[in-house]
Amino acid sequence: MTAASEGATGATMKAVWFSELGGPEKLTFGDQPRPTPGLEQALVRVQACGVNRLDIYARSGRTPVRLPHISGSEAAGEVVAYGPGVAREPAPVGARVAIAPYLFCGQCEYCRLGDETICVRGDILGLASQGAFAEYVVVPVSSLVPLPDGVDAVSAASVGLAMITSWRLLIHRARLQAGETALVHAAGSGVGSAAVQIAKLAGARVIATVGSSEKMALAQKLGADEVINYREQDFAQEVRRLTGKRGVSVVVEHVGADTWEKSVSCLGRGGRLAICGATTGNEGKTNLWSLFAKELSLIGSYGGTRADLATVLGLVAAGKLKPVIHRTLPLENVAEAQRMLEERATFGKIVIDTTK
Ligand SMILES: [Zn+2]
Repeated sequence: MTAASEGATGATMKAVWFSELGGPEKLTFGDQPRPTPGLEQALVRVQACGVNRLDIYARSGRTPVRLPHISGSEAAGEVVAYGPGVAREPAPVGARVAIAPYLFCGQCEYCRLGDETICVRGDILGLASQGAFAEYVVVPVSSLVPLPDGVDAVSAASVGLAMITSWRLLIHRARLQAGETALVHAAGSGVGSAAVQIAKLAGARVIATVGSSEKMALAQKLGADEVINYREQDFAQEVRRLTGKRGVSVVVEHVGADTWEKSVSCLGRGGRLAICGATTGNEGKTNLWSLFAKELSLIGSYGGTRADLATVLGLVAAGKLKPVIHRTLPLENVAEAQRMLEERATFGKIVIDTTK
């Protein structure tokens, strides 16, 4: 059995895969057949791939995948070849590209409206498909986004999923406005470190939470106006104090069960709670009285589109958004990278640099 299902040419590549569910010790680094691009697909030489909780969910069984499996959803690299049936090449062979991680059919009623992330046949690179913790990956041609000058592969791979998720959540879903106040949970995470910057760019006041005193200064450096250490202070009480009992306009929720109920209580009248993840669990208790009496909105937000990725890469190229990279590691260290993420010892992204 091989992890690369697209059909081998005899050539091999280095990759990291797992054949059984479990901890990071289930990850194997070694040779796998190099995939070949099929109909309307491209072969990309991976230069960098961001590490995400999604990879851990796949490995541990929280998100089902077909075994054996290569994870890795947030990649950038170089186009090597196109498969048959490609009407228009989005970038010439040899060009540098980012891979939009939310794969879509392009034909269902949601795709037709531009809502690619809720496509009825949607997938994320590295879930139903084989991912990019490898030297090569095969992806649909529609997912290639040319890299602007001045954005290297590691930077692109650090924003390709986390930052587009925060972008879609704050700009398109919660519609954060200048002068409003946003509460951003876990400012040291990929989503959180992006959300602090995007909310500031939108002209909002930002209150951020972090889990250690070292991370407080880092969150301030990113632009947070006020930072709460949630291990030492009750964040809901602090938000109440910092907003003169008014509450915030928008909460960026991705922690889940541990914070949900208090996140709702942090909302001011007309406030919007937008959620794009539930790391600590899927169940949450909601005070229904405050939901209607304060005219609150609870909003789901799922990843981001190709257009969101192109927008974010443009803002990175212009220096308006900064990739926050905790560390880069070589491909053979994917297991170590996942351990670091699970221990929450990071501020910003861990990126696998396959050129190391
Ligand atoms: Zn679709």
